[in-house]
This record gives sequence, structure tokens and C-alpha cells, in this order.
Amino acid sequence: MALFGGSSACKKGDMLYAWTNDAEIKKKAELGGAVTGLWKHALASKAVDAVLVVTKGADLYDARPVLITNPGDLAKTAGSLHCGTLLLPKMVKKFLDGAKGKKIGVTVKGCDVMGFYELAKRKEINLDNVFMIGVNCGGSVSPVSARKMIADKFGVDPDKVTKEEIDKGQFIIEYEGGHKGISIDELEDAGYGRRSNCRRCKYKIPRQADLACGNWGVIGDKAGKATFVEVCSDKGAKLVDGAVKAGVLATEAANPKGLEIRAKVEGAMFKLGDKWRKKDFSALGANMWDKIAKETSRCIKCYSCIENCPVCFTAAKELTKNSLMVRPGELPPNPMFHMRRFAHISDSCINCGQCEELCPAEIPLALFSHAIRAESDTAFAPKLGASAYKN
Ligand code: FAD
Ligand code: SF4
Ligand code: SF4
Ligand code: SF4
Repeated sequence: MALFGGSSACKKGDMLYAWTNDAEIKKKAELGGAVTGLWKHALASKAVDAVLVVTKGADLYDARPVLITNPGDLAKTAGSLHCGTLLLPKMVKKFLDGAKGKKIGVTVKGCDVMGFYELAKRKEINLDNVFMIGVNCGGSVSPVSARKMIADKFGVDPDKVTKEEIDKGQFIIEYEGGHKGISIDELEDAGYGRRSNCRRCKYKIPRQADLACGNWGVIGDKAGKATFVEVCSDKGAKLVDGAVKAGVLATEAANPKGLEIRAKVEGAMFKLGDKWRKKDFSALGANMWDKIAKETSRCIKCYSCIENCPVCFTAAKELTKNSLMVRPGELPPNPMFHMRRFAHISDSCINCGQCEELCPAEIPLALFSHAIRAESDTAFAPKLGASAYKN
């Protein structure tokens, strides 16, 4: 399985095409079902006690987290939900005791990986017990905005859509009566498309996970039928080996041309992320604090932005309890309510977008937090300049 021949054992650094041999998983999977096949083997071989993944709820716009302990239940969790904007690490902290007593497998996007590391730094998660299979991520679309986009730009009833995918720069839908794709650039120019934090995100291939999986670079007869797997840790290599031996997974060395293509796409995504940062941050300009004051005047002090942030882990109300300025029951809250939060996350915001996504007042909180983080990184690490903060 080594890239250029040699030993058949999988090792850290290997680049593979992989697909599952499990017919039920393959049917439902996004690109050959390597991820779900690997989870099936991880559970069966007791490499993990449970797997936290995402599954379709009421419809395509309803991505739900689900904890699976029975390998037979995994097939229903296969497939990519691009309107799934969840962040899983805080759930592991809140509901699974920070993986302190159990080994948990999690399918992660780049923002999930960063969330795990931030929580581990604060001793809220035991990373030794977390097994991460990463999926490359070009971005996700908010469910409400996706429904609106499909109605307005595609002219299709969102409830009639049976499948969505993002491929070759297009958002593509299948619906009763046909299929249609529109370029993401066109959608984003019209104010739709990926979430604003996703446009600025530059963590595209999650190499801090144990395995990084995606479709970029899968070419030839395997295109659309296999996943590109970068083996990022010894733990990841062992899982791949075990799954192959158990007959759940098949692999072959990635096509070298595919490797080149994958690197080019990743580079293009970095440039796109930089373009959006420049656009979004310079639009904030000198009036940023006025804009923050204006936007946050709609705040209803629900604490959702604090509860759901992977970096703010203090009990939400602690953050304002001892303030001389922020008084209970005062609406909108004193600006210091927000200033304290921004100060809290200024050197560690991971641009996951949860604060913004889950704010009932639709305040662009992640834009502000990300701008503050990026500015603080370039200001306090001047030698590194703009490259200091890549996430
Ligand atoms: P499957 O066996 O089908 O398993 C998919 C896994 O992803 C399951 O564990 C499922 O629970 C989980 N999952 C589904 N939706 C979500 C979600 N919203 N958040 C977290 N986990 C989820 N690959 C690229 O190369 N380029 C991209 O631009 C790209 N963008 C992506 C964007 C999103 C939002 C997602 C979820 C995936 C993206 N991928 C991208 C990865 C790709 O779509 C496949 O997930 C990957 O190739 C694995 O395919 P598979 O058949 O092996 O996975
Ligand atoms: Fe994907 Fe980055 Fe958006 Fe997370 S923040 S969903 S990793 S694009
Ligand atoms: Fe205010 Fe929005 Fe935060 Fe709720 S989520 S406290 S409304 S800023
Ligand atoms: Fe994510 Fe917002 Fe917290 Fe930043 S401040 S880490 S974008 S929830």
C-alpha cells in the first residue's frame, strides 16, 4: 500500500484511494464509503467504544449528530450533508465527558479538528481517547439559506430536492424531475452559497486528524467511486491495515497525477480563502467598532454564542456574573457583554462559525471574532505576518 511500491503495510504519510466492500454502506456513501467502512471496522475491532457522526434527520437540510455503538447501524450515517453546519467537539465535552472514560471515533471537518485541539489545550477533552477521521471541506451551507437559494436561484421547491452535492466548483441538486448545477462563485456573488466563515476558512485538508479523506485527486476509473485517503498518524495507518485485513476496505496507491491535482486544488482554495478575508475584513475597515455596536444592539442575551463556542467553555453566565457594567435583565446588554467575549476568544477563535450560525438575532459574530483573531495574530507575530494565522 505504500505509494511507490515497497512494504504492503500501511504507514503514516501514505496516499491511497480507498473504498468499502460493504454493499449496504457503498449504496448510501458519498464516494465509495471508505469513511463509514473504517468506522465499521473500528467498532467491530473495539478500536473505539462509540462513533459520533452526522446523519440525515427530517430532510437534507437537517443534519443530526448521532452516537453509534452497533456497527450494523452505521450504514445510515454514510453520505455528505453539505448543509450540515454542526461542530462536534463541544458535544464530546458536554455529553460524553470529554472522552475521559471512553474511546470515541468522530468524523471531523477542519473546524472540528481545531475545536478538539482548543478543548484539549484547556484539559476539557482527552485527545488520547479521540479517534478522528477527517473529511476535506470546501465549505458548508446554512440550512435556511440553502432552502432560500434553491427556491430563488435554482427555481426549485426545496422540499422536492432528493440529493445535493458540491462538485467541480458547483452546487448541484437532484430533484423530482431533473438535476441542476450552478457555480458556487455565481451563487456567492448573489449573496448565497457557503457560510461566510467557510469562505474565509483555509483548513481544507484536516491533516491533524488520524486520516484525511476527500474526493480531491481521485481520477481515472476510481473517480466518484473511491475516496482519497492521506494517512496522518500511526493510529490511522493501523486502522486502515486492520480494515483491509478484515475485508471491509480495499485500497490502492493514489495516482501521482491525482496527488498533483489535489495539491493544486488545495492551493486554489487557500487563495480563495485569502480573497474572502481581504474582502470581508477590509469592508469592516475603520468603522468596525461602530458596526459591532450597531449589530449587537439586536442582542437578546440568549447566551447561545457562548454556549456553542468551542473556545468559550466557562459556564456561560460566569462571563457576565461579576461585571460592574453588565447587569442581569438589561436588554440589549451593555456593549461590555460582547467585548468580554471578544477579548476571551481574541487569540483562539477558530472561525468555526457556530456563534454566528446559532445567533437568533443574526448578528455576524464570527466575522467580528475572526477579524479580531486574524488582526491579533498579525499584530503580535509580526515576523510571521499574514501567514501567522492560517485557519
Ligand atoms: P462516507 O462513507 O459517505 O462517510 C461520510 C462521513 O461524513 C460520515 O461519517 C458522515 O456522518 C459524515 N458527515 C456527513 N455530513 C457531515 C457534516 N456536515 N459534518 C461532519 N460530518 C459529516 N472532499 C473534498 O475532497 N473536497 C471538498 O470540498 C469537500 N467538501 C466537503 C464538505 C462537507 C460539508 C463534507 C461533510 C464533506 C466534504 N468533503 C470534501 C468530503 C467528501 O464529501 C466525502 O465525505 C469523503 O470523500 C468521504 O467519502 P466516503 O464515501 O468515504 O464517506
Ligand atoms: Fe468546512 Fe472550514 Fe466551514 Fe468548517 S469552517 S465547515 S472546515 S469550510
Ligand atoms: Fe446575543 Fe446572539 Fe449571543 Fe444570543 S447568540 S447572546 S442574541 S449575540
Ligand atoms: Fe467559533 Fe465564534 Fe467561537 Fe470563533 S468565536 S471559535 S467562530 S463560535
